[in-house]
Amino acid sequence: MNIAFFGADGKVGHALVPVLEAAGHSVRPLELGVAPDVRGLDAAVDFTAPDAAPENTRAALEQGVSCVVGTTGWDPQPLDALARERGLRLFVAPNFSIGAVLMMRFAEQAARYFPRAEIVELHHEAKKDAPSGTAALTARRIGGDPVIHSVRLPGLVAHQEVIFGGEGQLLTIRHDTTARESFADGVLLALDRLETLPPGLTVGLDALL
Ligand code: NAP
Repeated sequence: MNIAFFGADGKVGHALVPVLEAAGHSVRPLELGVAPDVRGLDAAVDFTAPDAAPENTRAALEQGVSCVVGTTGWDPQPLDALARERGLRLFVAPNFSIGAVLMMRFAEQAARYFPRAEIVELHHEAKKDAPSGTAALTARRIGGDPVIHSVRLPGLVAHQEVIFGGEGQLLTIRHDTTARESFADGVLLALDRLETLPPGLTVGLDALL
């Protein structure tokens, strides 16, 4: 596919662009500050920042290009109507790592058997949003409004623990992302399946697994 990449110079972009190219995609990095021209491309990928993703995504949809978005900390719902109107796909996943998606599934299952849970999400110190999109989605999926603790420190990449407490027992479900290449499989899967999705917004890698 011919892909536009918003955020190619970022930490995730640096890890993903070579993997997308090795998988046979042609990637056009989009420069910051220049009005994006993505007309005629097959898809746009966005890993930028919460204040940049809404405009990038809107511009791509207005130019007839479906989007795969990993940027967290913004609400894509207002763009659902635009994507539907144009018969385009807007796929947004707060976590493109398959291990993290399984962590959420397992946490959802465990939640049925424990009265209380808390979430600890730990990320590198440059992460701009808190709580993380993955923690917010996990909280929605397990229900009961669990407390989310956010840790931002050098040395971390992206990690999350869901701790369940019950009478005389604890259950901890933990996922560690140790390198950003872990997001590549999910992005490749989303690109591969993009045209099979219904027009409009689809949230979460779970929808593709
Ligand atoms: P980062 O290192 O700060 O990279 C973001 C890049 O986007 C930077 O190069 C930035 O340029 C650029 N940028 C900002 N605004 C832009 C715009 N309007 N158009 C084009 N490029 C723009 O951040 P990151 O660690 O790569 O993470 C990027 C986003 O992905 C964050 O929201 C993060 O939470 C999210 N993320 C999601 C997943 C997932 O699986 N869904 C995984 C990891 C990260 P400047 O530095 O010049 O501003």
